[in-house]
Amino acid sequence: MATATLTIDLDAIAANWRALDQMSNPATQTAAVVKADAYGLGARRVVRALAEAGARRFFVAVAEEGAAVRQALGPGPQISVLSGHMAGDTEMIHDLDLTPMLNSVEQITRHLDALPGHPFGIQLDTGMNRLGLEATEWEAVAVAVLERRPELVMSHLACSDAPGHAMNAAQLTEFHALTDGIGVPRSLAATGGILLGPDYHFELTRPGIGLFGGRPHTEGRPVVSLSLPVIQIREIAAGEVVGYSCGYTAGEPRLIATVAAGYADGLSLRYSNAAMLWDGETPCPIVGRISMDLITADVSHLRDLPQTLDILGPMQGVDDLADVAGTIGYEVLTTLGHRYGRRYASTAIRGQT
Ligand SMILES: *Cc1c(COP(=O)(O)O)cnc(C)c1O
Repeated sequence: MATATLTIDLDAIAANWRALDQMSNPATQTAAVVKADAYGLGARRVVRALAEAGARRFFVAVAEEGAAVRQALGPGPQISVLSGHMAGDTEMIHDLDLTPMLNSVEQITRHLDALPGHPFGIQLDTGMNRLGLEATEWEAVAVAVLERRPELVMSHLACSDAPGHAMNAAQLTEFHALTDGIGVPRSLAATGGILLGPDYHFELTRPGIGLFGGRPHTEGRPVVSLSLPVIQIREIAAGEVVGYSCGYTAGEPRLIATVAAGYADGLSLRYSNAAMLWDGETPCPIVGRISMDLITADVSHLRDLPQTLDILGPMQGVDDLADVAGTIGYEVLTTLGHRYGRRYASTAIRGQT
């Protein structure tokens, strides 16, 4: 079979959630951000594992993602929509009991008109200038909005992966200025904010990447491994080339393995002649260019010819690959392709797919 296997460790996701939960005091609730199909890993399976670990609140980017999460979890857990209440979302928000985080006066008006009494939260902008009400807008509507009892008032940090960055303290100060004394639960911290310490935790934290083994939660357990089947192994002589654009020229006789996966599976062209494949703990340098469906690696030094080579695993994580490609672990995860056979590993629910 020439299909690569992506293994997702649900126990590791649950353990990472618990570890992040324990970093704040027990009065602070820990939610889980599962936007973009749980960072590409499959929301249905991931949210069930998280609910089993104790998560009761989930955040998604858009209402459609919320529908999928509701279907996986059933009634009960709160599902918040970060993009708020968009035109056309009303029925879904109502029928699936989603909680929109309202980002503008327009959204507040739409929500309170269409679904009076339906739960909502408010997102404030504290300097990132991406989503949320500006300070002046909030000041104009705060009294009226607070009378309608929002479930949460939240904001988002722009630089929380850089603990020393002055933006963190500036946003914290602004968040206090906008929300002190409102008597509503507050949330400011994603993964990076949790690691900044208790000043940033408020009543609810919202980790995403830290659940999935990515920076800045470097103490987290790795979650994904990706094993690529070897289709063919050939000997090449000194001076022969490998792949498109003759991207590699052998300086001496080499043994080249061709594996089944490529940039169409989210493995960046930038890994060409740069990243490693792994035979257990032995690195095998990728040689030549990544193709759409194929990768070539130098296996001259292996004692036994491998059946598979790994590109993600204990020896090379999502952030290692991100560094090679000049990107971030979030992008490596969310671009993982749809051709992989996905295996969900868990001691609790072994064997289910
Ligand atoms: C994506 C996101 C999160 C989660 O961020 P991580 O860095 O993945 O922990 C939390 N809050 C908001 C508003 C987000 O957009």
